[in-house]
Formats: sequence, structure tokens, C-alpha cells
Amino acid sequence: MTVQDYTKALCDLPGGREVQIRHAIQEMAELTVELTKELDGEGEMRQIREEVADVHLMLAQLIEIFGFSRTELFWMQEDKMRRTFERKGMTWE
Ligand SMILES: [Mg+2]
Repeated sequence: MTVQDYTKALCDLPGGREVQIRHAIQEMAELTVELTKELDGEGEMRQIREEVADVHLMLAQLIEIFGFSRTELFWMQEDKMRRTFERKGMTWE
């Protein structure tokens, strides 16, 4: 099953779109907790990886829910990376 099909099936459930958006918020919070533990010297690689996988899946769903095209996402990311390099005085190639 593709992420597109998976997302559509979940969003087609009653209240599904809102549930998935709230789920994304929850997963990002869980990753925040795990990353904070890491910075405090109490991180557990397995937990961090688990939450990164959860957030990655939720981001893939948000991309579908909010209708990004692959091209649009690519160029938005490219622009953000370039601007970050510029802010840091680094050369973007
Ligand atoms: Mg999680």
C-alpha cells in the first residue's frame, strides 16, 4: 500500500482528516520528548528512531493531506536549504 492510499483510507473515515492532523501533532510531541532526553544525556536510540519513523510517516501523510506536489516540496526544501546556507555565510552550489 502506498502512503497516498494509506492516507486516503484513514482520512475517509469519519473525522479522519482531523484525527490524522492531531495524530501528527502528537507524534511530533513524542519526538520532541525523545530529542530532549537525548540532549539531556538520557536518550535511547531505539526510542528516538521509533519516533523519527512515526514523524516521518506523519509528514508523508501531511504532504498528502495538504496537497503538496513532489516538485513543489522539492523546490520549497531547496529554497529553505539555500537560505539557511546564506544565513550562515556558506556557499550554496
Ligand atoms: Mg510515537
